[in-house]
Amino acid sequence: IRSFLKDPSLFKEQAFINGQWVGSKENFNVQNPATDELIASVSNLGPQDAELAIAAAEKALPAWRNKTGKERAHIMRKWFDLITESTQDLATIMTLEQGKPLAEAAGEVAYGASFVEWFAEEAKRVAGSIPATTWGDKRMMVLKQPIGVCVAITPWNFPIAMITRKVAPALAAGCTIVIKPAELTPLSALALAELAIRAGIPDGVINILTADANQSILIGKTLCASPTVRHLSFTGSTEVGRILMGQCAPTVKKLALELGGHAPFIVFDDADIDAAVIGAIASKFRNSGQTCVCANRFYVHKKVHDQFVEKFAQAITKIKVGNGMEPGVTQGPLIETAALEKAEKHVADAISKGAKLVTGGKPTTQGKNFYEPTILANVNSDMLITQEETFGPVAPIIPFENDEEAVALANNSPFGLASYFYSRDIGRIWKVAEALDYGMVGVNTGLITNEVAPFGGVKQSGLGREGSAYGMDEYLEMKYVCVGL
Ligand code: ADP
Repeated sequence: IRSFLKDPSLFKEQAFINGQWVGSKENFNVQNPATDELIASVSNLGPQDAELAIAAAEKALPAWRNKTGKERAHIMRKWFDLITESTQDLATIMTLEQGKPLAEAAGEVAYGASFVEWFAEEAKRVAGSIPATTWGDKRMMVLKQPIGVCVAITPWNFPIAMITRKVAPALAAGCTIVIKPAELTPLSALALAELAIRAGIPDGVINILTADANQSILIGKTLCASPTVRHLSFTGSTEVGRILMGQCAPTVKKLALELGGHAPFIVFDDADIDAAVIGAIASKFRNSGQTCVCANRFYVHKKVHDQFVEKFAQAITKIKVGNGMEPGVTQGPLIETAALEKAEKHVADAISKGAKLVTGGKPTTQGKNFYEPTILANVNSDMLITQEETFGPVAPIIPFENDEEAVALANNSPFGLASYFYSRDIGRIWKVAEALDYGMVGVNTGLITNEVAPFGGVKQSGLGREGSAYGMDEYLEMKYVCVGL
């Protein structure tokens, strides 16, 4: 990896605790999903290291908490600047470990950095309140204070942004944090830590525990069981979210969970079909379909169904699949072979139950993990693909006849993260946006996430919101003070 970087010192293979790089007896391997090449051998920590990281975060807490919001903002701004200056190197590291095309990786660096910038600004604006008293001899106030030591457990699909979306509000609020990045993408996280040191973020404020899949489970238990840890923020599968929620019950931790999605994408008969196709491509095929807000089910009105399918299939021919390091590639590999197998299983199940393959439908020959952008028509609710998240580049299309049916089909899911629809009718836009049982609704757009908007889901898609002016509250406790005069 070093040979690809302008600043090779951003490539780190050791974990990061209390401002020190930490090795381990045995390491675990990180592979490039495009080539299967071994690209790094990273410290494989365990529960005892997790205890050390918690202790470091606890030790660093008083001094960090006692800085003013403005002082923390200045340090964070420096971190933002360094991340931004290192965009090219961070994107390269990300593409090599995660697979997404280089331009898309650079986009994620900007997106990830935007949380650091935003919450650095918000650090100065934390404010309590003074309610009017109803007792003449007493006065009341509400203080907002940092919750304390926090934990972030993050996934591989956004190796930088899922970390900064948690760490930035935590730091801005005055909290310290222990991060357990995904075992498939630890290198982006470690590069961020190197930049945090350079920005002057004090020792122990940020700690990174790298570990393989098995050790991650053990570390997770330690982090959840610790009474010192007051908040756990997790992004990943609903299955693991449930486990962590259970593990946090004994110590009654505050939880933020960003879990699975199963986003519907509805095209009404009054939609601008060309715009809907552009939105569908952006929403479905970004990151090879591996985001929790990717459209996973397309409901298209019967009147415009054939037209939409034809234009969608045409647009897909412009997607260039390949190694993300090659110029012009717009779709990289899937993260691992198990991900490809899931896409294959969903496609095979749909076809066996009567779906029509419009385009794609098989792996490419570029490597083990590449899958063609795929469209299936004639899909119905009995098929696996309409019931669970595919997390791959497969677009199933289901026709519908009226608004009530479309909304009912869209809401028929235990998940409630993102949803999308296309219509030009203002009445319909209000009614459908209100009726969709989702935390986020994109109307006439397939891209909705940024640092200003509250990101999060309802039902089994999770708890809490990240980013936005609301994202900071997650890391603040309210304290009510009553003063007798
Ligand atoms: P994905 O479906 O995105 O691979 P996972 O939910 O499996 O997501 O993993 C997301 C993160 O959760 C990763 O950092 C992974 O190491 C971690 N993880 C997975 N299982 C556990 C567990 N039982 N305890 C703690 N962390 C876990």
